[in-house]
Amino acid sequence: MFLPQEIIRRKRDGNVLSKAEIEFFVSGITNGNVSEGQISALAMAIFFNGMTMDERVALTLAMRNSGTVLSWDDLNLPGPIIDKHSTGGVGDVVSLMLGPMLAACGGFVPMISGRGLGHTGGTLDKFDSIPGYQTCPDNALFRKTVKDVGVAIIGQTADLAPADKRFYSIRDVTGTVESIHLITASILSKKLAAGLEALIMDVKVGSGAFMPTYEDSKALAESIVAVANGAGTATSALLTDMNECLASSAGNAVEVREAVKYLTGEYRNPRLHEVTIEQCAELLVLSKLANNLDDARSKLNTCLDNGQAAEIFGKMVTSLGGPTDFVENYDNYLEKAEVVKPIYAPTSGYVSAMDTRALGLAVVKLGGGRQRPTDTIDYAVGLTDICQLGNQVDTQTPLLTVHARNEAQFAEVQEQIINAITISDQRPAANPCVYERITKEDVSKQ
Ligand code: URA
Repeated sequence: MFLPQEIIRRKRDGNVLSKAEIEFFVSGITNGNVSEGQISALAMAIFFNGMTMDERVALTLAMRNSGTVLSWDDLNLPGPIIDKHSTGGVGDVVSLMLGPMLAACGGFVPMISGRGLGHTGGTLDKFDSIPGYQTCPDNALFRKTVKDVGVAIIGQTADLAPADKRFYSIRDVTGTVESIHLITASILSKKLAAGLEALIMDVKVGSGAFMPTYEDSKALAESIVAVANGAGTATSALLTDMNECLASSAGNAVEVREAVKYLTGEYRNPRLHEVTIEQCAELLVLSKLANNLDDARSKLNTCLDNGQAAEIFGKMVTSLGGPTDFVENYDNYLEKAEVVKPIYAPTSGYVSAMDTRALGLAVVKLGGGRQRPTDTIDYAVGLTDICQLGNQVDTQTPLLTVHARNEAQFAEVQEQIINAITISDQRPAANPCVYERITKEDVSKQ
């Protein structure tokens, strides 16, 4: 009916593609009828000429529909299907707590998460550090866990938005990843395949963020909110700070430890707490599980204080094949590194800046992340007790603790870590944890 080269030509010349043209091209991506060259040419044409809102919604839905789209209707769940997505960061362990907290407040959270790549950690890798936990359960166990426990955090199956998988792998090697319109469709095609009623999007800002500037992060947040709502899922976004590690730890097993401590109340990093509560609260309001943000915050604090969120985390781990006493005895199960040593501040002063990306790359160098998609991960390594911006330090104060397999690994990251943390005489002004909320109403005004 259409010719791929005509569609490419029309986009190259700045025309608006019809829904039918987009659906035709995406089906060709999925079934192999359009070539790699044609896909990369269209990606480049979109990179330069962009897409209207209608085109972005059509691209998102066509890629979402290229594989399985989950439906929860037959389960008659007594609450909404909700989830969050983050553009990724260092020490961004929010999902591990958010899922159980939302479930405790009446939501059902089928969270399909990804692996870490580059300097950012991946939720799936963190769960893989729990012995027995199946990050790729069959559909029946996934659905049973969502129904019985309220939350299941698992990995992407091959059949989820396969068009995006092929499209992204070609964008990755043709200089066309950095298109806000293509990123929007790529992220949402996968998220919306989970059959969500409401979504909160966490778009990071700062030295460890995926987007290079505040303006780009905001533009991505606005694009996602507009397209997701246009595609029928109630969605808001928060722009949150990634100018320092979000949690006090970065790695896999070390972040799982911090998540359990957060849920049980043993230790709660205040910045991590604020970002987690604000994302959960937005989603509870969006999905009508709370009347307003204050009501939502109070429900969330209650489920933390009464232990319900921790209990749900434990049930999810057990349901997906992990230990039955994980929350109580996590240290018996999580791997530990042999060398656990602090790195001290080289001078006295205030921690005034953090190259968060470099700290994430130090975790990768230790073996806690991947340099190539096929690399295996060392779950035990990472960083803990990470200082925060504004902390006063001297040469006796640890900036953080490194968990390495051996002394050579420790030595390899030491300089990188010291260079990533700036100490100066002036205490820096504190960054807010949440910079801005972007709602459907904000984007419909534009
Ligand atoms: N993450 C995605 O899933 N897709 C993109 O295009 C960029 C980041």
